[in-house]
Amino acid sequence: MFEDLEVTLEKVAADKLKKKPSPDKLGFGVHFTDYMFLMKWSRELGWHEAKICAKEEFRVDPAAMVFHYGQAIFEGLKAYRGKDDQLFLFRPKDNFERMNNSAVRMCMPRIPVEKIVNVLKSLIYLEREWVPRAEGATLYIRPTMIAVEPTLGVKPSSLYYFYIIMSPVGAYYAEGCNPTKIYVSDQYVRAVKGGVGYVKTAGNYAASLYMMEIAKKEGCTQVLWLDACEHKYVEEVGTSNIFFRIDDQLLTPPLEGSILGGLTRDSVIKLASSWGVDVVERRISIDEVLEANEQGRLQEVFGTGTAAVISPVGELLFKGNSYTINNGQTGGLSARLYTELQAIQNGLQDDPFNWVVRVG
Ligand SMILES: *Cc1c(COP(=O)(O)O)cnc(C)c1O
Repeated sequence: MFEDLEVTLEKVAADKLKKKPSPDKLGFGVHFTDYMFLMKWSRELGWHEAKICAKEEFRVDPAAMVFHYGQAIFEGLKAYRGKDDQLFLFRPKDNFERMNNSAVRMCMPRIPVEKIVNVLKSLIYLEREWVPRAEGATLYIRPTMIAVEPTLGVKPSSLYYFYIIMSPVGAYYAEGCNPTKIYVSDQYVRAVKGGVGYVKTAGNYAASLYMMEIAKKEGCTQVLWLDACEHKYVEEVGTSNIFFRIDDQLLTPPLEGSILGGLTRDSVIKLASSWGVDVVERRISIDEVLEANEQGRLQEVFGTGTAAVISPVGELLFKGNSYTINNGQTGGLSARLYTELQAIQNGLQDDPFNWVVRVG
């Protein structure tokens, strides 16, 4: 039913095009490109009215179900500028397949993955001047789906919007990559097994804000979430997956329903394994982590996600006690993963796993 989805282009008048922000003041998700992609879904028509049009306000009814019952899912990926102005995407198909997994869990319609990857390529090519040239800067891409049927009954909506907006973002580590201080939450939890922790749905982030504010007051940049049942096993750090290097083994919690399966997580597992690193997915308790640290066996800790790629952890705050990791320094494996993944994403290095997709 998707083959006949026609995408129209509504040109933005030349005098309505925005001025590009200065490359040193990009920030994250503050500026947006001129165009977006938008399509609508109804039970009768499926996906229809697909268009690339001005990124501007659209009208939805105040009764739209997304505002009340939170049927909203999203994705996050980036377009990278390599040498000779070539543009690249990193595993875009996997992002849209993950979005379809989210859609199923939230009773929302699936999107046609191949078609949308092609639409995204066209959109980026149209907006190619928006992909920043500054070192480390990228074009962040935010596909989103929301329920827009105007009704108050609790049930899956029968109308949806899917759209893609894009934002030029600065290098994540503008001042170099400094290991972060992380608050280990022993009071609030992010997700439970059987719940929606494994999907990128809006409510997960709303639910995390309160704990994030507490962490910030303690001088921490992120929250390390423990499992919801025993408050014992490590799950995720903020909106990143987490890795521990103990006794030369690279450990990360398994995907058992409460953790979002990050593409960076998957890429790190595959890349490190290909280097001969012993990577193990298993439950890791916070006690095990702290004990290994005490005994000098915890070599490094880092988070993984599209935004930062690799985010080294230099300090944990747990039950009022502070624990320094690797003398607050970035670990060797963290640094290597960061460099090599970035090089692959920017098309500067061999891509043994065929992750990179060229645009235009
Ligand atoms: C998006 C996200 C991640 C990281 O996923 P990537 O695909 O690596 O960007 C990890 N945890 C949560 C909760 C997320 O929302």
